[in-house]
Amino acid sequence: MEKERLKEVQGWILDMDGVLYRDTQPITGAKELLEFLQEHRIPFLLLTNNSTLTPEQYESKLAGMGIRVPASRILTSSLATAAYLKERLPAGAQLYVIGEDGLRQALRQAGFRIMASRDGCTAVVVGLDRSLTFAQLKEAALAIRAGAAFIATNADRTLPTPEGEIPGNGAILAALEVATGISPVVVGKPEPRILLWAVQQLGLPAQAVACVGDRLETDVVGGRRAGLLTVLLLCGVTTAEHLASASAAPDFVFPDPQALLIAIASARSGS
Ligand SMILES: [Mg+2]
Repeated sequence: MEKERLKEVQGWILDMDGVLYRDTQPITGAKELLEFLQEHRIPFLLLTNNSTLTPEQYESKLAGMGIRVPASRILTSSLATAAYLKERLPAGAQLYVIGEDGLRQALRQAGFRIMASRDGCTAVVVGLDRSLTFAQLKEAALAIRAGAAFIATNADRTLPTPEGEIPGNGAILAALEVATGISPVVVGKPEPRILLWAVQQLGLPAQAVACVGDRLETDVVGGRRAGLLTVLLLCGVTTAEHLASASAAPDFVFPDPQALLIAIASARSGS
């Protein structure tokens, strides 16, 4: 029965951190899974909530691990945020931005002006910024209090690193929420809008697309909300014990990309 449902999948949206690699170490089968999808011309996109790197930077990061995927197949919460704002703000709108290269480049490419201060800014856009200062928090808070829209790339509370879980963008958002009493519009997973935006780029109906990730509260919850099939891999932040006590149940669970690849190949070769 599982095989039957996997056969229905025509396209894939794969998370990166905890699915393809951990830190700078590739996960077993990640390279082979992506090679298989590309060889068989199965539509897929990589989609991360991490806003810090550009698609080109992710392409080189993956290449450094022997995984070849063109930047055109790599989507980030920064690109999704730029697309979201482009639909809602006039061209050339002025933004106050907390965030790294990935976010700044995406917003500039979408035609926005990134300002050094809050003056004249119609929106405050917040992504993870690992050189955040108090002056930036102050500028952002004053702009939000004065009526600027408050938009966040993602709300991940933490970021897994070899040192342990470090503050994620959700921690920066929490500081601004406390200081302003205003909650941001969040673009990234588990909000369905980012997944539906990715599905649109695949050109497939949502129910024919599977969302693969390692985190229940973003990948699985988001995939469900967007109407996608959900696949949890246990090679990232979620362990089998977490899963047993969780309320969000994915449609499929595999230990790693290697096991997922075996299942996909067998579903395709089966009658
Ligand atoms: Mg992940």
